[in-house]
Amino acid sequence: MNDMPAGETLDYRLLLDAATAAARATSGQGHVADYIPALATVEPDAFGMAVATVDGELYGIGDWERPFSVQSVSKLFTLALAMAHGGDTVWRGVGREPSGNPFNSLVQLESEHGIPRNPFINAGALVVTDRLQTMTGDAAGAVRAFLRRESGNPLIDTDPVVAASEADHGHRNAALAHFIASHGNLENPVETVLDHYYAHCAVSASCRDLVLAGSFLARYGVRADGTRLMSRSEAKRVNAVLLTCGTYDAAGEFAFRVGLPGKSGVGGGVLAILPGRAAVCAWGPRLDQAGNSVAAVTALDTLTTLSGCSIF
Ligand code: GLU
Repeated sequence: MNDMPAGETLDYRLLLDAATAAARATSGQGHVADYIPALATVEPDAFGMAVATVDGELYGIGDWERPFSVQSVSKLFTLALAMAHGGDTVWRGVGREPSGNPFNSLVQLESEHGIPRNPFINAGALVVTDRLQTMTGDAAGAVRAFLRRESGNPLIDTDPVVAASEADHGHRNAALAHFIASHGNLENPVETVLDHYYAHCAVSASCRDLVLAGSFLARYGVRADGTRLMSRSEAKRVNAVLLTCGTYDAAGEFAFRVGLPGKSGVGGGVLAILPGRAAVCAWGPRLDQAGNSVAAVTALDTLTTLSGCSIF
C-alpha cells in the first residue's frame, strides 16, 4: 500500500487488512499476563481491531466483536468521567507526568508523599476511582453505564471471575491504596476503592465496544448522541495525558511507533485516538515487557505508518 497523506479520506478496510497481517506476523511473541490468574485463560493468539470514525462509520476485522478484559483501558474512562463530573478537582490528588516506573510501583509513591505521578499508573487510577466514587456513588457502575450507552451494547459488564481473581491477588494494589490513604489522599474507605477499581478493570468489552465508547475523544469531547461530555480543552488534556502516560513505562516508544494518544491494558487491548478522525482499538493478549500488547501496538504502528496519519 502506498503512503496516504494526512487529510485524505482513509481506506480503513485496506488499513485494517494490512495492520492485521503485520500483527499476525508477531504471533508467538510476548506473554499473556498471568499475575491475575483469571487473565491467563485467554486464547493467546486471538486478534481483533476496530475503527469508529467521527462520521459514524464502523469497521472491524478478526475478533473485533469478541469481549476481552479491558483492564487498564478502563482508566481512560474513569479519568474522563471524573473530569466530566469534577473538572480540575481531580488534579489535586494526582499528577500528570510520566512515571518512568512500572505501573504498580510503590517506590515513587513513597517519595512523592502519596500523590501518584499520573492517573494511569495503578496508584493514580486508585485516586481517580476514589474521586469518581465520591462524585457518583458508584464508580464502576458509572464506567459500565458510560460504556453501554456509548457503544449501544447493554451486555457490557464486569466479569466477576476476573474481579475476584484480581482481589485475591491484589496485595500490591491494596498496599498502594493503604499508602495513599495514610497520606490522606483517599476520600472513601480503602476496601470500597479497591472493589470499584477491580470491578472497572474487570469489565469485558470488545474492540467494537471500546472504539464506540472512546470516540468522544476523537470528537473533542462530544458523545455519540451529539451532547458534550467535556469541554474541548478537557478532551485535549485527556488526550495529552494518554499520549504521555497511557502505555505504561513505554509511552515514549508508543509515541515513536504509533504517534497517537492511547491507553493499553494487561488484557491486551489498546485504544488509541486519531483526534478529529476516529477511535481505533486493537487487541492481542500477548504482552511485551512493559505490559503492552505486541500485536496491538504493531497493528496501530502499521495503521499510522501506512496512512501517514498521526498527531505528528
Ligand atoms: N487491574 C490490573 C492491576 O491492577 C490493571 C493492570 C493494567 O492493565 O495495567 O494490576
